[in-house]
Amino acid sequence: MSGTATKRPRRSTQRHRTTRVSSASNELDVREIRAQMYGLQLEMSGHRLVYLDAAGTTQRLKSAVEAMSELHRSENANIHQEGFALARQAKKTYEGARDALAKYVGAKRPEEIIWVHGTTEGINLLMTTWGIQNVKRGDNIVLTVQEHLSNLLPWQLLAKRTGCELRFIECDADGYLRMEQLPELITRRTRLVAVSHVSNVLGMINPVDEIARRAHKVGARMLVDGAQSAPHLEIDVNALACDFFVFSGHKMLGPFGTGALWAKHDLLEEMPPYNAGGGSTEDATLKRAEYKDPPKKFEGGTDNPAGAVGMATAARFLRDTGQRRIWEYEQRLVAHGLERLAEIPGLRVLGAPDPDVRVPLFTFTLDGYEGKELAKKLGNRGIAVSGGDLNAGPFLKRMGLEEVTRASCHAYNTTRELDALAEALLELSTQRR
Ligand code: PMP
Repeated sequence: MSGTATKRPRRSTQRHRTTRVSSASNELDVREIRAQMYGLQLEMSGHRLVYLDAAGTTQRLKSAVEAMSELHRSENANIHQEGFALARQAKKTYEGARDALAKYVGAKRPEEIIWVHGTTEGINLLMTTWGIQNVKRGDNIVLTVQEHLSNLLPWQLLAKRTGCELRFIECDADGYLRMEQLPELITRRTRLVAVSHVSNVLGMINPVDEIARRAHKVGARMLVDGAQSAPHLEIDVNALACDFFVFSGHKMLGPFGTGALWAKHDLLEEMPPYNAGGGSTEDATLKRAEYKDPPKKFEGGTDNPAGAVGMATAARFLRDTGQRRIWEYEQRLVAHGLERLAEIPGLRVLGAPDPDVRVPLFTFTLDGYEGKELAKKLGNRGIAVSGGDLNAGPFLKRMGLEEVTRASCHAYNTTRELDALAEALLELSTQRR
């Protein structure tokens, strides 16, 4: 897999069915994957739904929804209670979910996983804890021009509070990061380099491991925004050589409102608490508190065990299905999508035409249409895609664009669905020519 480390698949216990491997080949059986998903049989605007908005949020894995429901039905208790067995069981399930997430990213120990609501909260957590503690006037933080607002705005807030400088790695016309800029941008005053592993606009895999090595050379920390990579690639935080990795459950077949921040344990130990409240302290008086060890010092308040279990079930499913197989299947979607979209007059796909640096995400413009308008026209035909600035307005503006349209897939999508998209776009393109 380009830009990521490939490791042996892990086994784990699970409640979903492992996807069948046909005896003739190790190819992913997309029908089998589809059968395990909710949402794909729906109708929309009088058409059979063609759901091409995985980068916005994926459809849900049935076993993840059922695991959540099961927890609410049979293990419903506040995990902070130790006096009764039901709560102890709920806690065991919850911590088992943390362990699954740790395995998903190759963490050394489950305590390195902090539950958050999603990537956005994970980055804000880092900004308000590690950022406030470690960054001061005269320091700099290095991002790329491609960042989603969730990996830009928190650092703007930190810059405002501390007076630190924000610097940006540019990219070329194909979307490749200009790596030759690293020595000039990442200097001894750099405290953090924060980069999206996969751009939500281009779908291209960034060489975050190489950037991390440069960051570490000058003693800076490396944050990887994994919102668009964790759903598609096998993640090994050790091979990525990063210090922080953040990702969202709802983009990887799991539930809304779930996500995880991984950080090295020694860093977590040094960081101040976050979301201070019930369950986060060893001891508290009216004037002071002694906080628990990570992860609990970041997780005050009543936890969301159902969400955790749902996200963990999705993570186990992806692991057990095999990320190598998912990658190979998705590469077919990438190649097919690029080929079909290239046939449409007036359509321009953003990013490099090289399939092996991409996940199946296609952002495009079509002559005669605004991005949102085009998304609406496709929506009226039963094809769900994103339209607008994709929360990456600053990056689009640099490319001279205000709005775009984005079709994005996961392993449950088919080449036929991409054909349906291409046919609809062809028709729409002829209407405005
Ligand atoms: N970073 C990237 C690259 C994303 O694509 C997204 C979601 N579109 C986010 C961060 C934010 O994720 P969430 O909304 O799940 O917090």
